[in-house]
Amino acid sequence: MHFDEYEGKTVFITGAASGIGQAQAIAFATQGANVLGMDLDSEGLAKTTDKTKDLTGQFLAHIGDVTEKSEIILAVTKANKAFGTIHILLNTAGILDNYTPTLDTTEDMWDRVLSVNLKGTFLVTNQVLPQMLKQSHGVIINMASIAGMVAGGGGAAYTASKHAIIGYTKQLDHDYIKQGIRANAIAPGAIQTPMNAADFAGDGKIAEWVAAETPAGRWAKPEEVASLTLFLASEHADYIHGTVMTIDGGWLEK
Ligand code: NAD
Repeated sequence: MHFDEYEGKTVFITGAASGIGQAQAIAFATQGANVLGMDLDSEGLAKTTDKTKDLTGQFLAHIGDVTEKSEIILAVTKANKAFGTIHILLNTAGILDNYTPTLDTTEDMWDRVLSVNLKGTFLVTNQVLPQMLKQSHGVIINMASIAGMVAGGGGAAYTASKHAIIGYTKQLDHDYIKQGIRANAIAPGAIQTPMNAADFAGDGKIAEWVAAETPAGRWAKPEEVASLTLFLASEHADYIHGTVMTIDGGWLEK
């Protein structure tokens, strides 16, 4: 898959140190886009830097927390200084709640999951959106989940946060569509990343069960979500607005 349009574009990706965010960073840099990857995990960011070093586009790492406005401002400034204005924002950073039901969810866990998954998406969007409005063009893709559409893909906090991301994405698109902004969400099913390492641990029976329960009969690779992102952020998807693209091996068809 090759997209000429990404050459020289600036892409801001949160969660770029691992899994889906790292695959997105590699995919966009492969297409010639310059990528600023923001993440808490410095070692993971160093790996992304290593994996992108020979690609056409540049990758610049920024260690920072998406729940801290001041750190987001530093990251956005760094991206602007290095690459110019941001054209594409991928809000991919997220954390799980270990499938915890509400009565077992502590306030701390609730606050942290909602803060990273939902408030982080809001905070980063609000720092990037003004420059997109100035250039009358911008694409925002927020990482939801099948847990944003049905129960069972997470616990109380994770499922609430992912449902909220879908609502936030629709409203974002609705409010700014006339000013050249296009916002959508992606809802992955079972993607094999470090987030799901526990499922593959020990005898791997949980991972086997997930594959068996998925109509496609397997887990997906993060690169498959990155490919969908390349399409969804492109001009080919210009009429796709405020929606949720599932990539779940048929999980939601059941
Ligand atoms: P991952 O754990 O491999 O990567 C998530 C990244 O986010 C990590 O590098 C982590 O350091 C970073 N991060 C966490 N908190 C942060 C913070 N406060 N500030 C900055 N960075 C932070 O997970 P993944 O599987 O690649 O998940 C990426 C996104 O996709 C998440 O939003 C997740 O909810 C979503 N998702 C994943 C799956 C799946 O099966 N893997 C399914 C549906 C949705």
